Amino acid sequence: MLSLDIPAFSVAVPCYNEQAVLPVFHERLCAVMNGIGRSWEVVYVNDGSKDQTLACMENLAQHDARVSVVNLSRNFGKEVALTAGLDYARGNQAIIVIDADLQDPPEVIADLVAAWTDGVDMVYAQRRAREGESIAKRFTAWAFYRVMAKLGNRIVIPPDTGDFRLLSRRALDCLLQMRERHRFMKGLFAWVGYPSRAVQYNRAPRAGGKTSFNYWSLWNFALEGITSFSVVPLQLGTYIGFAISLLAVLYGGWIILNTLLFGSHVPGYPSLMSVILFLGGVQLMTLGLIGEYIGRIFNETKNRPLYFVESYQAASLHNTPNIHTNIDP
Ligand code: UDP
Ligand code: MG
Repeated sequence: MLSLDIPAFSVAVPCYNEQAVLPVFHERLCAVMNGIGRSWEVVYVNDGSKDQTLACMENLAQHDARVSVVNLSRNFGKEVALTAGLDYARGNQAIIVIDADLQDPPEVIADLVAAWTDGVDMVYAQRRAREGESIAKRFTAWAFYRVMAKLGNRIVIPPDTGDFRLLSRRALDCLLQMRERHRFMKGLFAWVGYPSRAVQYNRAPRAGGKTSFNYWSLWNFALEGITSFSVVPLQLGTYIGFAISLLAVLYGGWIILNTLLFGSHVPGYPSLMSVILFLGGVQLMTLGLIGEYIGRIFNETKNRPLYFVESYQAASLHNTPNIHTNIDP
């Protein structure tokens, strides 16, 4: 490959049903990236969209040689689509991860690049305000980061950050070595380590289209985060069991004493019933928890590829007239 073909920056954008916003997104992205004055490409990943997103991407690629299009064979979900985008990103200096829906304003990329100085491998964008999001969603997000901070097992996930960030080539190469199927990206970014730095920004409401997330998927997302990075819930069973056993011993002692002192008068059905039901509940819950982990072990052991690509159209940077050619080797 000609060195001219390798851009300094890559922007990876996973897209699912984003036809409404993609042209605007691309326009704003170009304005920002051109302002930075280094060679760049954008990798649009079509994650099995049901609308005209792919046609929209191909149209962009036709008019702009800095556009790569990775078309996945079906919908794989955001985390995998993003991974595909990162796999295909060729930027040899830094890679930027951003959503297509303009909730992450492309203009912030300029700040990310500005904050990316020597010795910093990751610059993540941190939300200052969550405009256009319900109080309930804000609260669940807030709670999630606090729980993760407690359970995270040495890795620290900065609160109020999404996937929107800049990674050095070195950090990306590390990230891409992790091929697990349950990809909790925020956790993986944090797991990589290296010096990182935050840039504050205001998260905008979605520009068009609609979010594919609901509370059920948010719950699953939280579950993914916790089970991918912590085994504390598994240990919880041990402690609950221990506490209950202790109470049972005390209660048993009291029953024996009571029988010795006052004799036995058979009642006890309500207490017996409530203890059995309570223990049954605890046992089922613990079993379910173990099931969550076993399910994930099962999925990982199959060791399937993360995704399949139906078509790929690489950016051909040397065709672009307004491209800068002062690329560092
Ligand atoms: N996305 C994707 N595949 C999916 C769902 C979403 O590639 O199955 C993309 C979507 O196009 C967007 C980003 O992931 O660029 C974030 O999705 P969304 O805005 O729905 O999530 P939210 O911002 O509500 O967390
Ligand atoms: Mg969004």
